[in-house]
Amino acid sequence: MDARKLEMTVLMTPEMANFSGKVHGGALLNLLDRVAFSCASRFSQSYCVTLSVDQVVFKQPINVGELVTFRAAINHAGRTSMEVGIRVEAEDIRSGSRRHTNSCYFTMVAVDEGGKPVTVPDLKVLDEDEARRHRAAEIRKNLRKRFVQEMAEASKG
Ligand code: GDP
Repeated sequence: MDARKLEMTVLMTPEMANFSGKVHGGALLNLLDRVAFSCASRFSQSYCVTLSVDQVVFKQPINVGELVTFRAAINHAGRTSMEVGIRVEAEDIRSGSRRHTNSCYFTMVAVDEGGKPVTVPDLKVLDEDEARRHRAAEIRKNLRKRFVQEMAEASKG
Protein backbone atom coordinates (compact mmCIF):
# COMPACT_ATOMS: atom_id res chain seq x y z
CA MET A 1 0.00 0.00 0.00
CA ASP A 2 1.26 3.46 -0.98
CA ALA A 3 0.51 5.85 1.91
CA ARG A 4 0.60 8.81 -0.49
CA LYS A 5 -2.36 7.61 -2.54
CA LEU A 6 -6.01 6.74 -2.08
CA GLU A 7 -8.90 5.70 -4.26
CA MET A 8 -12.62 5.71 -3.50
CA THR A 9 -15.65 4.81 -5.62
CA VAL A 10 -19.15 6.01 -4.69
CA LEU A 11 -22.53 5.35 -6.31
CA MET A 12 -24.45 8.59 -6.93
CA THR A 13 -27.86 8.23 -5.23
CA PRO A 14 -31.03 10.37 -5.48
CA GLU A 15 -30.54 12.31 -2.21
CA MET A 16 -27.35 13.81 -3.72
CA ALA A 17 -29.17 15.25 -6.73
CA ASN A 18 -31.30 18.18 -7.81
CA PHE A 19 -34.72 17.84 -9.49
CA SER A 20 -33.20 17.05 -12.88
CA GLY A 21 -31.12 14.15 -11.59
CA LYS A 22 -27.76 15.95 -11.61
CA VAL A 23 -25.52 15.67 -8.54
CA HIS A 24 -25.26 18.89 -6.46
CA GLY A 25 -21.84 20.56 -6.45
CA GLY A 26 -22.07 20.67 -2.66
CA ALA A 27 -22.60 16.89 -2.45
CA LEU A 28 -19.45 16.41 -4.53
CA LEU A 29 -17.51 18.89 -2.40
CA ASN A 30 -18.51 16.93 0.69
CA LEU A 31 -17.11 13.72 -0.84
CA LEU A 32 -13.98 15.51 -2.13
CA ASP A 33 -13.31 16.88 1.36
CA ARG A 34 -13.58 13.39 2.88
CA VAL A 35 -11.21 11.99 0.26
CA ALA A 36 -8.71 14.83 0.84
CA PHE A 37 -8.99 14.35 4.61
CA SER A 38 -8.43 10.58 4.35
CA CYS A 39 -5.48 10.89 1.95
CA ALA A 40 -3.72 13.62 3.97
CA SER A 41 -4.42 11.97 7.33
CA ARG A 42 -3.13 8.60 6.21
CA PHE A 43 0.05 10.16 4.77
CA SER A 44 0.74 12.29 7.85
CA GLN A 45 -0.61 9.81 10.42
CA SER A 46 -2.40 12.76 12.05
CA TYR A 47 -5.91 14.12 11.74
CA CYS A 48 -5.99 16.98 9.24
CA VAL A 49 -8.02 20.12 8.63
CA THR A 50 -8.88 21.71 5.29
CA LEU A 51 -7.12 25.03 4.71
CA SER A 52 -8.15 25.81 1.13
CA VAL A 53 -9.42 24.32 -2.11
CA ASP A 54 -8.22 25.29 -5.59
CA GLN A 55 -9.61 24.77 -9.07
CA VAL A 56 -13.05 23.43 -8.21
CA VAL A 57 -14.90 23.68 -11.51
CA PHE A 58 -18.04 21.60 -12.08
CA LYS A 59 -18.40 22.03 -15.83
CA GLN A 60 -19.39 18.43 -16.52
CA PRO A 61 -22.57 17.30 -14.77
CA ILE A 62 -22.67 13.95 -12.96
CA ASN A 63 -25.90 11.94 -12.99
CA VAL A 64 -27.70 9.90 -10.36
CA GLY A 65 -26.91 6.20 -10.95
CA GLU A 66 -23.32 6.83 -12.07
CA LEU A 67 -20.28 5.43 -10.28
CA VAL A 68 -17.82 8.14 -9.36
CA THR A 69 -14.17 7.33 -8.69
CA PHE A 70 -11.96 9.74 -6.78
CA ARG A 71 -8.21 9.20 -7.22
CA ALA A 72 -6.21 11.17 -4.71
CA ALA A 73 -2.50 11.66 -4.17
CA ILE A 74 -0.19 13.84 -2.12
CA ASN A 75 1.43 16.18 -4.65
CA HIS A 76 3.45 18.30 -2.25
CA ALA A 77 4.34 18.28 1.44
CA GLY A 78 5.57 21.35 3.30
CA ARG A 79 6.34 21.58 7.03
CA THR A 80 2.78 21.07 8.32
CA SER A 81 0.67 21.31 5.15
CA MET A 82 0.14 19.07 2.16
CA GLU A 83 -1.46 19.47 -1.23
CA VAL A 84 -3.83 16.62 -2.12
CA GLY A 85 -4.76 16.40 -5.81
CA ILE A 86 -8.00 14.60 -6.70
CA ARG A 87 -9.02 13.37 -10.14
CA VAL A 88 -12.74 12.64 -10.51
CA GLU A 89 -14.11 10.20 -13.08
CA ALA A 90 -17.76 9.29 -13.62
CA GLU A 91 -18.77 5.92 -15.09
CA ASP A 92 -22.05 5.11 -16.75
CA ILE A 93 -22.79 1.65 -15.33
CA ARG A 94 -24.68 0.26 -18.32
CA SER A 95 -22.42 1.47 -21.14
CA GLY A 96 -19.22 1.24 -19.07
CA SER A 97 -18.08 4.57 -20.54
CA ARG A 98 -15.94 6.73 -18.27
CA ARG A 99 -15.26 10.43 -18.38
CA HIS A 100 -13.02 12.79 -16.49
CA THR A 101 -15.38 15.32 -14.88
CA ASN A 102 -13.00 17.49 -12.87
CA SER A 103 -9.80 17.70 -10.87
CA CYS A 104 -9.09 19.82 -7.83
CA TYR A 105 -6.42 20.48 -5.26
CA PHE A 106 -6.92 20.66 -1.48
CA THR A 107 -4.43 22.14 0.98
CA MET A 108 -4.66 20.21 4.24
CA VAL A 109 -2.88 20.89 7.56
CA ALA A 110 -1.96 18.12 9.99
CA VAL A 111 -2.95 18.95 13.58
CA ASP A 112 -2.55 17.44 17.03
CA GLU A 113 -5.34 16.85 19.55
CA GLY A 114 -5.28 20.52 20.55
CA GLY A 115 -5.60 21.66 16.93
CA LYS A 116 -1.95 22.76 16.77
CA PRO A 117 -0.17 22.15 13.42
CA VAL A 118 2.30 19.25 13.47
CA THR A 119 5.08 18.38 11.04
CA VAL A 120 4.38 15.98 8.21
CA PRO A 121 6.76 13.44 6.59
CA ASP A 122 8.89 14.41 3.58
CA LEU A 123 7.37 13.52 0.25
CA LYS A 124 9.58 11.41 -2.01
CA VAL A 125 9.00 12.17 -5.68
CA LEU A 126 9.37 8.88 -7.54
CA ASP A 127 8.72 9.57 -11.24
CA GLU A 128 8.32 12.30 -13.86
CA ASP A 129 4.53 12.55 -13.34
CA GLU A 130 5.01 13.11 -9.62
CA ALA A 131 7.77 15.67 -10.31
CA ARG A 132 5.40 17.56 -12.66
CA ARG A 133 2.61 17.53 -10.04
CA HIS A 134 5.07 18.69 -7.39
CA ARG A 135 6.12 21.66 -9.56
CA ALA A 136 2.46 22.50 -10.31
CA ALA A 137 1.64 22.41 -6.57
CA GLU A 138 4.47 24.91 -5.89
CA ILE A 139 3.08 27.21 -8.58
CA ARG A 140 -0.40 27.04 -6.97
CA LYS A 141 1.13 27.77 -3.54
CA ASN A 142 2.93 30.86 -4.88
CA LEU A 143 -0.20 32.02 -6.72
CA ARG A 144 -2.23 31.79 -3.49
CA LYS A 145 0.37 33.94 -1.69
CA ARG A 146 0.36 36.48 -4.54
CA PHE A 147 -3.44 36.59 -4.52
CA VAL A 148 -3.49 37.45 -0.80
CA GLN A 149 -0.83 40.15 -1.30
CA GLU A 150 -2.58 41.70 -4.30
CA MET A 151 -5.96 41.74 -2.55
CA ALA A 152 -4.35 43.45 0.46
CA GLU A 153 -2.78 46.03 -1.88
CA ALA A 154 -6.10 46.56 -3.68
CA SER A 155 -8.00 47.10 -0.43
CA LYS A 156 -5.58 49.94 0.49
CA GLY A 157 -7.03 51.81 -2.49
P1 GDP B 1 -2.69 16.78 -13.00
O1 GDP B 1 -2.69 17.30 -11.58
O2 GDP B 1 -2.30 17.84 -13.98
O3 GDP B 1 -1.85 15.54 -13.18
O4 GDP B 1 -4.23 16.44 -13.39
P2 GDP B 1 -5.07 15.09 -13.26
O5 GDP B 1 -6.48 15.46 -13.59
O6 GDP B 1 -4.48 13.99 -14.08
O7 GDP B 1 -4.97 14.65 -11.74
C1 GDP B 1 -5.40 15.48 -10.68
C2 GDP B 1 -4.76 14.97 -9.42
O8 GDP B 1 -5.32 13.69 -9.08
C3 GDP B 1 -3.27 14.73 -9.53
O9 GDP B 1 -2.55 15.93 -9.27
C4 GDP B 1 -3.01 13.61 -8.53
O10 GDP B 1 -2.83 14.16 -7.24
C5 GDP B 1 -4.33 12.82 -8.54
N1 GDP B 1 -4.25 11.64 -9.42
C6 GDP B 1 -4.26 11.63 -10.78
N2 GDP B 1 -4.18 10.39 -11.28
C7 GDP B 1 -4.14 9.55 -10.21
C8 GDP B 1 -4.07 8.11 -10.06
O11 GDP B 1 -4.03 7.35 -11.04
N3 GDP B 1 -4.08 7.61 -8.79
C9 GDP B 1 -4.13 8.43 -7.68
N4 GDP B 1 -4.14 7.85 -6.46
N5 GDP B 1 -4.19 9.79 -7.79
C10 GDP B 1 -4.19 10.35 -9.03
